[in-house]
Amino acid sequence: MASTIQHDQAAPAGGEDDATPFVHHFINGVRHLPGVDRWGEVCNPSTGAQVAAVPFASVADVDAAVHDARRAFAEWSQWSALKRARVMFRFKELVEAHIDELARLISSEHGKVLLDAKGEVQRGLEVVEFCCGIPHLMKGEYSDSVATVIDSYSLRQPVGVAVGITPFNFPIMVPLWMLAPAIACGNAFILKPSEKDPSPAVRLAELLVEAGAPPGVLNVLHGDKVAVEALITHPQVDAVSFVGSTPIARSIYATAAAHDKRVQAMGGAKNHLVVMPDADLDQAADALIGAAYGSAGERCMAISVAVPVGDATADALVARLAARVRALRIGPSLAEGMDMGPLVTAAHYDRVKGYIDLGVDEGAQLVVDGRDFHSDAAGSEHGFFMGGSLFDHVTTSMRIYQEEIFGPVLCVVRAATFEEALGMANAHEFGNGVSIYTRDGDAAREFVSRVQVGMVGVNVPIPVPLAFYSFGGWKASAFGDHNQHGMDGVRFYTRVKTVTQRWPKGVREGSDFVMPTLK
Ligand code: NAD
Repeated sequence: MASTIQHDQAAPAGGEDDATPFVHHFINGVRHLPGVDRWGEVCNPSTGAQVAAVPFASVADVDAAVHDARRAFAEWSQWSALKRARVMFRFKELVEAHIDELARLISSEHGKVLLDAKGEVQRGLEVVEFCCGIPHLMKGEYSDSVATVIDSYSLRQPVGVAVGITPFNFPIMVPLWMLAPAIACGNAFILKPSEKDPSPAVRLAELLVEAGAPPGVLNVLHGDKVAVEALITHPQVDAVSFVGSTPIARSIYATAAAHDKRVQAMGGAKNHLVVMPDADLDQAADALIGAAYGSAGERCMAISVAVPVGDATADALVARLAARVRALRIGPSLAEGMDMGPLVTAAHYDRVKGYIDLGVDEGAQLVVDGRDFHSDAAGSEHGFFMGGSLFDHVTTSMRIYQEEIFGPVLCVVRAATFEEALGMANAHEFGNGVSIYTRDGDAAREFVSRVQVGMVGVNVPIPVPLAFYSFGGWKASAFGDHNQHGMDGVRFYTRVKTVTQRWPKGVREGSDFVMPTLK
């Protein structure tokens, strides 16, 4: 299958094949490619073929980008919030107008099916819509007469240059979670997207400039560990937002905080869906299939553990799930009518397959085995396709239960009681999302109250909060105080300044050497 990506055709410096298209950085309002020493490979997961080379930024590239961003910040932060909101409105319209192009770019580099890619852009756009209200969202507080002729007020100011480091699985939505509030609040932003699917971010940055943002307000710098470390330790960077796997999130949080940055770092997940005996099992099975296998399980809010309560519930649920997993329609991401596309890279395919092998070794029952799936669509013979896999009789001591697999693999862990199911979610290292399916309001309420997880669904399989709420997990799924988007996004990208003012009328009161108290 031919790639739909429109890259400039030119030879990357550094000895790549002449025919290899390359992705650009986006710095100071234009596509930019300085001398490049190191390149990464971008593949179309549906064909397995390389479609582009992505430059890896050096420490000097990072330094130049930060200085450009700093310059842009000086101007942008002086624009009124209303003017910045107007740029956001135009940006929203432009993203909407280009939704098909952006979705095709996502599908071609990530591998998720086109409808899912459009859904991703739509969810990202909702954050932009929220940010169109920035004049209201940044309002401070005012107290008249906190003491005799003294008034007090607080205001929010942008932090400066903010950096976002994003994962491969949402190449548009997660960058929008970060850059929309950061920029609307008056910051300049440097995005370091995933090197696996870097092109959508560049298009997004072009659209923001078209919407009227001055050059340098949004920069996109590609790269790996070298670029990330230079960004999060740079003295002119003020805030770091990270979304990715837990080991990297933990290390980014520690390093950036040690360099005096404000940091939020979201990590991995292992999301449970508890099925109570009174649940509508067909409804629960349908929900589980979409939540476990949509986007080939490469979502931080994917359900990867089903916890039926009672053996009768488990037997009936597994029978329903198995039939549905076998019926999944799997094929190239741009083909019509597919439920699921390929995995993102060959290396990720090997990792997921390794976990399925491990589950068999650990003694779990592999009810449906996705390892042998091959796409027969023309041109997709070398794509990174994997069928859906379903494990039953998984136990909490198995690594396939404890670790994040991030692929189309659902583990069924049977619980005898509600307490056991709840305890399982609570004891797990991760605490991103969780869900319960039941018709019993009492059980649902108890679950919501006691579960140690950041985002909870009741008869909703993927409880991703809308843009005007905030997104974030608990435990090893998130480090830092502020979540993504909603009011937390505004709080993260602004600092509060509190002013106490008095306009005395020519009275000299002398010096006061004691702690001021109310008069
Ligand atoms: P990843 O941690 O491998 O990469 C994330 C980003 O960090 C990328 O930009 C990558 O280039 C960079 N990076 C990778 N290794 C690095 C290193 N050693 N030093 C510095 N930077 C490094 O994650 P991924 O595979 O791209 O994405 C999948 C992961 O992201 C999963 O664990 C998933 O659960 C998680 N995720 C979490 C959320 C959330 O909100 N909690 C949302 C989406 C994805």
